[in-house]
Amino acid sequence: MRIEQDLKLGFKDVLIRPKRSTLKSRSQVDLNRQFTFKHSGKTWSGVPIIAANMDSVASFKMAISLAKHNVMTAVHKHYSVEQWGEFVSSQTADVLKHVMVSSGTSDADFIKLSEILAMSEELNFICIDIANGYSEHLVDYVRKVRQAHPQAVISAGNVVTGDMVEELIIAGADIVKVGIGPGSVCTTRVKTGVGYPQLSAIIECADAAHGLGGQIIGDGGCSCAGDVAKAFGGGADFVMLGGMLAGHEQSGGEVIEQDGKMMVKFYGMSSQSAMDKHSGGVAKYRAAEGKTVLLPFRGSVDNTINDIMGGVRSTCTYVGAASLKELTKRTTFIRVQEQENNVYG
Ligand code: 5GP
Repeated sequence: MRIEQDLKLGFKDVLIRPKRSTLKSRSQVDLNRQFTFKHSGKTWSGVPIIAANMDSVASFKMAISLAKHNVMTAVHKHYSVEQWGEFVSSQTADVLKHVMVSSGTSDADFIKLSEILAMSEELNFICIDIANGYSEHLVDYVRKVRQAHPQAVISAGNVVTGDMVEELIIAGADIVKVGIGPGSVCTTRVKTGVGYPQLSAIIECADAAHGLGGQIIGDGGCSCAGDVAKAFGGGADFVMLGGMLAGHEQSGGEVIEQDGKMMVKFYGMSSQSAMDKHSGGVAKYRAAEGKTVLLPFRGSVDNTINDIMGGVRSTCTYVGAASLKELTKRTTFIRVQEQENNVYG
């Protein structure tokens, strides 16, 4: 048995220290980034925030709305090929270039993924994720997808340590998805005792990925715009959001009336709700590792995404970063034992 003594940190353990800045207004801050991906060679520019591949977050409607803000959507994997066909034929290149196609790792998933990618040259991003990205099966699948789709931008995960980031990049991933256990509707840490504080995971995995010319997505655990800024400050190239984008008109969750209030169902992709819906229930050998919650209906996602981007722009002005790219370099975290003042709840 081994105990690592290094302290690992989550978003709530730090704040970002302000620095002298010549920026006069947050309107001067550019949140767009441009990346050229290691294996695919493709170049992409946009705001590197991604709606999480969950069926009560990343719907086609979400993709259409977020594309207007240059933001990505990892459209969930439960749409049929026919539904994809209708979506792709009705959308412009501007929307499709902000879409990731999500895939599981079975043979059927592989066939479906290839059919969807064949629908448009603008569909370039693939999001392959399984709960435990340490499985050899994932590495083999990434290799297979890379071979079949050399031009595609492949993101794969989820992992939380540099060794596995390197293995996935070497196997053909351009981007590695980082996060085990921090998600808002995730119960992995209580069900299994496994996890890694998300800010440290981002810092360590970004270092490993950047050393090989790859990128990472900080996935899960952001509960406010400040957390998104901390994820970018820690070195995340992309930040993926589930809960923060759930509960909206575009999220695709079931709307329920409760005590005269409109509520929206939001659940983890390994929750009982998701498995009942997509896999005919929870298999006997496994436990659900996700929660189901009801959120107050939040209207259009436009307001929320503007609020998140406004917050991150403001972070940039506090540390003197004229563009998001500079934020990591200009970030100094301070360890804290307090966050916001909760005197009024
Ligand atoms: P959030 O932004 O809501 O904090 O986190 C979103 C992330 O939580 C997703 O992108 C995914 O990685 C993770 N996630 C989604 N559903 C589940 C689940 O049922 N169980 C676990 N362990 N993680 C989940």
